[in-house]
Amino acid sequence: EMHNEELRIAYDEADALRARYADIYDFAPIGYVTIDPEGTILDVNLAGAILLGIKRSQKGRKRFAAAIKPEYLPIFNQFLAAALISRNKESCEIALLPTGQRPETMVRIDAVHDEAEQECRMVIIDISVQKTAEKAILERNQYQRALLDNFPFGVWLKDKDSAFLAVNTPFARNYECSSAEALIGKTDFDITSKEKAKSRQDEDRLVRLSSEPQHTERIVEIGGKECCFEIYNSPISIDGQLHGTMGFSRDVTERHLAIEALKESEQRFRNFIENIPLGISITQDGKIKYLNLKGAQLIGYAPEECVGREFLSLIHEADRPIIAEAHSRRLAGDAPMEEFNLRIIDRQGISIEFHTHASTTEWEGRVATMAIFEEVTDRQFAQAELRRLATTDSLTELANRRHFMERMGETLSRLHRDPEQTASVLILDIDHFKSVNDTHGHATGDTALCVLSRILRDELRREDTAGRIGGEEFAILLPGSDLHSAAAFAERLREKIAETTVSIGNGQLGVTVSIGITAVNATDTTVDQPFARADAALYRAKGAGRNRIEVSTKAVKQIGA
Ligand code: GH3
Ligand code: MG
Ligand code: MG
Repeated sequence: EMHNEELRIAYDEADALRARYADIYDFAPIGYVTIDPEGTILDVNLAGAILLGIKRSQKGRKRFAAAIKPEYLPIFNQFLAAALISRNKESCEIALLPTGQRPETMVRIDAVHDEAEQECRMVIIDISVQKTAEKAILERNQYQRALLDNFPFGVWLKDKDSAFLAVNTPFARNYECSSAEALIGKTDFDITSKEKAKSRQDEDRLVRLSSEPQHTERIVEIGGKECCFEIYNSPISIDGQLHGTMGFSRDVTERHLAIEALKESEQRFRNFIENIPLGISITQDGKIKYLNLKGAQLIGYAPEECVGREFLSLIHEADRPIIAEAHSRRLAGDAPMEEFNLRIIDRQGISIEFHTHASTTEWEGRVATMAIFEEVTDRQFAQAELRRLATTDSLTELANRRHFMERMGETLSRLHRDPEQTASVLILDIDHFKSVNDTHGHATGDTALCVLSRILRDELRREDTAGRIGGEEFAILLPGSDLHSAAAFAERLREKIAETTVSIGNGQLGVTVSIGITAVNATDTTVDQPFARADAALYRAKGAGRNRIEVSTKAVKQIGA
């Protein structure tokens, strides 16, 4: 009885247990499939049936291989053979053909066999999502790899002990390494000399400790040739945790050489410009952009005190308008090379005259004015002054007698060379000048001489010359004028002088002149000949009552002839 009761309980428990495991078997979210050595499905749970696209009632009639994508069949057959005899769990990954419920699916199968080696019991897990994710990661890795490998210079990543975590292909190639992978886990000691490796690791340590990237240029000897490498080394932190360092190095020898060449040529020009004994300035938009040392010294400044200043502020007030105008014309692209004198106010406030050449140049890509200037020195001043004194009359600032005669001589020579040309000469004498002196004093007489001289200067053309040839006697040389136009000019001059008065004391003073005129002829052998004719004509003018002009009769005859 007792025995029966126990047995019954044991059976009940076994039934309950089987029912429980049957549920777990049926409703597990992974497929369980049991097959025989021929591949016929012996048993399958619900998830397995769905995965295979069969009804559970069809078991015993369906072969597992029918659900497998054909190209995976060899893998599966091999796996099945192994699973039926292996002591251990066997695994494989295969693709199942699409069914009405799902697309093609990657699955992993783990399998063991029964004791009789007649059944293969398989657990099938859908790994499509995992596979897609793995594929995405692989792809991303490949992109990153491609990115690194296509850098035209070596890139590396090192861990905290300076062992390579990753390097790109150009880096590996630099060290004649078969592949980038081959360097992973290696250190600088594996690829370069002990000395260099140690110095690199010291640098890495420094970068890790300082948490600051390091950017250097280094001269390296490669195959007996000096090359320049740019090296960048930076600490790598992920989520605030130091992981190591990354760096790149690239050959910048060519760039380096180009920069050096540029520097050298710039230095050469700079030396030249700084040592030239002339001032050189570049101005743009009214501001001094550049001034050489000599230029600054000439005006008592240092170059840096002048750069950035409005250049007009350094120029004498009287010269500013013309300089400002020339500068803006130049910036507008309309000015040839020019030469002029201008006055600059130096640091002490003293005005210094400079002879200046201005031309157009470029500064920072835009048009600018370059001026080369030299001091019109005391010596040059003195020379010019001597020249002036030697040729001009000090009271009237007209040509003196000697200089006037030289001009006459030049004109006569030209006529000798080319008799077709014409020239005329006038001699003026103030009427009754003695009485002007007597009445108003010598000083007033001098004033009258100056007023008369100014009238002469005003009436002359550029090519004409007026000279004071005696106390109150003047002569005018008119190159290119025939006797008729010279007479017309003389008459106009006479009238102008007669009309002009100057205030003296509480009265007015006016003078008149008598004028003798003659043509300078190619037949004249000396300047005295035309001079004598003009003088004779003047004498006649005086005789005929003064304040009149008289033309040399000899000359008239010649014209008539
Ligand atoms: P005219 O020519 O009409 O015959 O009479 P004039 O009085 O002008 O006589 P002349 O031509 O001979 O003039 C000479 C005078 O000119 C003498 C002198 O008083 C005056 N004179 C000459 N040189 C100078 C000078 O540099 N300054 C002044 N103030 N007078 C001068
Ligand atoms: Mg006289
Ligand atoms: Mg006179």
